[in-house]
Amino acid sequence: MNQLTLPESLWRQTATPAPPPRALSGLVMADVAIIGAGYTGLSAALRAIELGLKPIVLEASEVGYGASGRNGGVVSTKYRVSLSDMARSHGVQTAKRMNQLGHDAMDRVGRYVQEHGIAAGLAETGNLRCAHNAHVLAALATEVETVRTTFGDTSLRMLDAHETAAETGSDGFVGGVLNSHAGVIHPLDYARGLAQAVRKGGGEIFENTLVKGTLTDPAGIEVTAAQGSVRAERLVISTNGYSDLSGATAGVRQTVIPFRSAMVATEPLPAATFATLIPNSRSYSETRRMMRWFRRIDDRLLFGGRGAFGKADSAPAFTALERAMKAIFPQIASVAVTHRWSGLVAMTMDSLPQIGLANARTAFSLGYNGTGIAMASLLGRHAVDLVMGETVDLALMRRAQPKSIPFYFLREPAVRTVAGWYQFLDRIGR
Ligand SMILES: Cc1cc2nc3c(=O)[nH]c(=O)nc-3n(C[C@H](O)[C@H](O)[C@H](O)COP(=O)(O)OP(=O)(O)OC[C@H]3O[C@@H](n4cnc5c(N)ncnc54)[C@H](O)[C@@H]3O)c2cc1C
Repeated sequence: MNQLTLPESLWRQTATPAPPPRALSGLVMADVAIIGAGYTGLSAALRAIELGLKPIVLEASEVGYGASGRNGGVVSTKYRVSLSDMARSHGVQTAKRMNQLGHDAMDRVGRYVQEHGIAAGLAETGNLRCAHNAHVLAALATEVETVRTTFGDTSLRMLDAHETAAETGSDGFVGGVLNSHAGVIHPLDYARGLAQAVRKGGGEIFENTLVKGTLTDPAGIEVTAAQGSVRAERLVISTNGYSDLSGATAGVRQTVIPFRSAMVATEPLPAATFATLIPNSRSYSETRRMMRWFRRIDDRLLFGGRGAFGKADSAPAFTALERAMKAIFPQIASVAVTHRWSGLVAMTMDSLPQIGLANARTAFSLGYNGTGIAMASLLGRHAVDLVMGETVDLALMRRAQPKSIPFYFLREPAVRTVAGWYQFLDRIGR
């Protein structure tokens, strides 16, 4: 029996049903084999189809089982490193390219939705980053200034404390940055819509198919699962925070640290509540290190964050998340939370996504640091471009090879220590 099932999330409850799964059986031929059916893998498949290649996607569970079917649906391309820091450390041209890749990633989601008629509620509502202290607000102002004056990009605008309170319905912020090139989506419907486009284009997706091994030889690659195998010319590894499901992806597993991230959804709220609570129905994120984000879906408030989550879900961690939501929005102190779920994001040492070639036949793209809806939709495509020998300027995200994180075996205590330290810094307002 397959143990890997999507959690009982609000997304699972409200998504358009998926077609019955097909598992791999026997030997199948492909031009490009892809491990993982999240946004990265499905975008890789769509790119392969555009290039006239036959992709086969192999998924241990079902489409969207990983972070792609569980996330907050906040579509934005914020990097965890500021563009002004990138400009300082790597030069203006590199930072400018990273900014452009961010916009390309946003546009890519819109194009997929439009070209493939994906009904996933994509709305370009804008995203508001809410500053939790003056120190952070000043850094945000520098960022906005760099983007506006150095890059000539007018998508960001500073809001003061008063405007931020009117936007959010909370007095908990000292100001914010409104990004007009961002929005919201139903994440699982998006994943299922991409999968449908892959199938329609002639690609195949085998679900309930855990890849157990890969073997590269001069003639190609053999990808094996319990029930069969795929013989392919090329391979794309797109397993992100789920790279330790088997030894097949050991080559990339140690390049990222999986970090649990969680969501809660309230019971339906009266329309009058939303007259003052996030009245513009944008997506919203906080600037704390243990970032939290919120948005509306139909008549419910969704609230997500990272916190005291370990390897698995825990009731006290969900309670802490609910408490954080109610501290920001005391007006909903008495409402019930009806859904709780979590998933794994993949963090990297330099806080940037990483894409490259593991060998001449194998590309990898992972490590979106918790902001991957748009970037995975773009980088999945570029993983195929790279493995087909194209040159793409991926600036700071391009890696010469998968590079393991030093002292990887210490990741679990390290995650707990870092999380505790970040919570402490957040608490003392730094
Ligand atoms: C709770 C939560 C909230 C988030 N909120 C947001 C948000 O609001 N906005 C945003 O932009 N990002 C958000 N993210 C991050 C975003 O969801 C991810 O960056 C993105 O989905 C990564 O997509 P992916 O395809 O690379 O990986 P995933 O979607 O994680 O997919 C990897 C897949 O690989 C499969 N797999 C692994 N190993 C094997 C194997 N050996 N054989 C076969 N299959 C295998 C897994 O089963 C899995 O389905 C959030 C993540 C979480 C967990």
